[in-house]
Amino acid sequence: DPRSVSERLDFWAAAAAELPWFHPWERVFEPAGRSFRWFAGAETNLAWNCLDRHVSAGRAEHTALVSVNERGDRRTTTYGQLLGEVERAAAALRSLGIGKGDRLTIYMPTAPEAIVLMLATVRIGAIHSVVFAGFGPGALAERIRASGSRLVCTADVTYRKGGDVPLEPIVEEAVRLAGEQVEETLVFPREGNAWDEFLQKGDGGDGSHVVMEANEPAFILATSGTTAKPKLAVHTQGGYQVGIHAMGRICFGMRPDDVWWSTSDIGWVVGHSYIVYAPLLFGCTTIVYEGALDHPDAGTVWQLIEELGVSGVFTSPTAVRLLMRYGEEPARAHDLGSLERVVCAGEVLNAPAWEWLQKTVLGDRIPVVDHWWQTETGGPVIGNPYGLELEEIRPGSAGRPLPGMEVEVMTPEGRECEPGEKGILTFREPFPSLTPTLWGEPERYVRDYWERIPGVWFTGDSAQMDEDGYVWFAGRADEVIKVAAHRIGTVEVETAFLQHPAVAEAGVTGRPDEVRGEVISAFVVLKQGKEPSEELRGELLQTVRRELGPVAVIGELQFVSTLPKTRSGKIMRRVLKAVVLDSDPGDITTIEDEGSVEEARRAWEELRSSVSRA
Ligand code: AMP
Repeated sequence: DPRSVSERLDFWAAAAAELPWFHPWERVFEPAGRSFRWFAGAETNLAWNCLDRHVSAGRAEHTALVSVNERGDRRTTTYGQLLGEVERAAAALRSLGIGKGDRLTIYMPTAPEAIVLMLATVRIGAIHSVVFAGFGPGALAERIRASGSRLVCTADVTYRKGGDVPLEPIVEEAVRLAGEQVEETLVFPREGNAWDEFLQKGDGGDGSHVVMEANEPAFILATSGTTAKPKLAVHTQGGYQVGIHAMGRICFGMRPDDVWWSTSDIGWVVGHSYIVYAPLLFGCTTIVYEGALDHPDAGTVWQLIEELGVSGVFTSPTAVRLLMRYGEEPARAHDLGSLERVVCAGEVLNAPAWEWLQKTVLGDRIPVVDHWWQTETGGPVIGNPYGLELEEIRPGSAGRPLPGMEVEVMTPEGRECEPGEKGILTFREPFPSLTPTLWGEPERYVRDYWERIPGVWFTGDSAQMDEDGYVWFAGRADEVIKVAAHRIGTVEVETAFLQHPAVAEAGVTGRPDEVRGEVISAFVVLKQGKEPSEELRGELLQTVRRELGPVAVIGELQFVSTLPKTRSGKIMRRVLKAVVLDSDPGDITTIEDEGSVEEARRAWEELRSSVSRA
């Protein structure tokens, strides 16, 4: 691990030297007002590094994209073909008057056309803002407005769970709400030739790349929506690619011959970094999957791994818990021999879920590795380096700070915590893929990240570091539950519930209590085939007590069939909180399933009325 400043900067300079540059940097790092610059003066183009250089190196025939949707459509695109399409799309965008610095919104399914548009945008130095094609008109309008997009691109529908989900009416409504700034909307129906006609606009035009200074923006992306007003993280042309490339190698062991499958969506940062940009920087084959992971059936994921010879999977704890609900039989029915590792991020990969995948499904043949990051970090910050012994994995911990990262757990007052003491996770220093500002809100950037604890980056996560430097996440700092004098992380309680074999998922929140300050209110989803009963309730309370001791006082436990989650799969504990406080949950436009709120309310009411009857 680099220790001194110069060692750390040397580390990042060496990481940058693994990529080609049109012109080298003058300084590796420099502070710049309330922000910073990496590789100042260097010239690059992220999209060029993803495509042209592989084609020049003779890899035009190598498969870049394998697109798959739940209808069974398959399409492969080679690096040569992808470059050709991106050049045409770049010229077509130019013909619409889009150039360097212009913003455009992409509200499209995870499909090749969207990826071509992303790369073409970055190629000409314009800035994309991809919005998850599942958000409603209000959320989309807000993101269009905040990014100042002149152009909005969409498809007519996206395919999900056997149906067509319309996108076009949502875009129409959002563009109307966003006001005058949108000059043009491009709709690409899935059937027909609108896409080809768009590309033809570029024929004979200028599809060349623009040489960009390393600190110029490549894209902006809203954080996933646990906060009400979206924050638009900015990612650069230079530092961003250095960060995701270095961590792709160190944390995931990515190689040019990988067949890489990130089960995320291009609407999230994982989709940007590990469906699109890092796999292409490495020259891998990347799987572009549109649809639900359990459609048409519980075997879909395993079948695709076998059929496509997938060597690396990047997934989320939510997806693991979803697959776990179906049991291991669907996995057993497939040959997973091509798979070399599974990496997982987004929430804590609770030890029981890790154990199920690592041991029951994969029989300890390959590692299942948790790692931690945020939209703002562009790529991993904490993780287990690829290639470590399985014994070095500590289930339930996201691993250790990765090379080049200066991570510290601190009290809200800014004192360094002792090993094992819970505090706020912070970064002492910026690293190349860290967002240098929020789009249009430089003051909010400084206030929300660098001034909460002066001088360090405030992640908002509660965590502790053990004697050996492993980081253990307890939950979001503002969701910590205070029972008597104890501070209990939501994640700690949820993990305790998962220790019981009948539990598929749990979400908890604090409820004010006169005696103890707060008690825990728990919402539990059972595995397929398990029924709620008083006996089971008793067992679950026992399990939590055994795991966490008597401090974790469960005020009440309700069984539900689903939890409120963001579209990116994170449990929305503030919604659970609103249910138990009978208050307004605030903005829930980013929720996966609105029915889950009703469901939680119903379970809560039932419980209250049975308590009052008793
Ligand atoms: P987002 O802004 O959507 O990228 O979400 C970032 C947040 O997700 C982090 O601040 C954490 O709260 C959570 N997160 C991501 N990865 C992990 C992980 N491996 N373990 C625990 N929490 C995680």
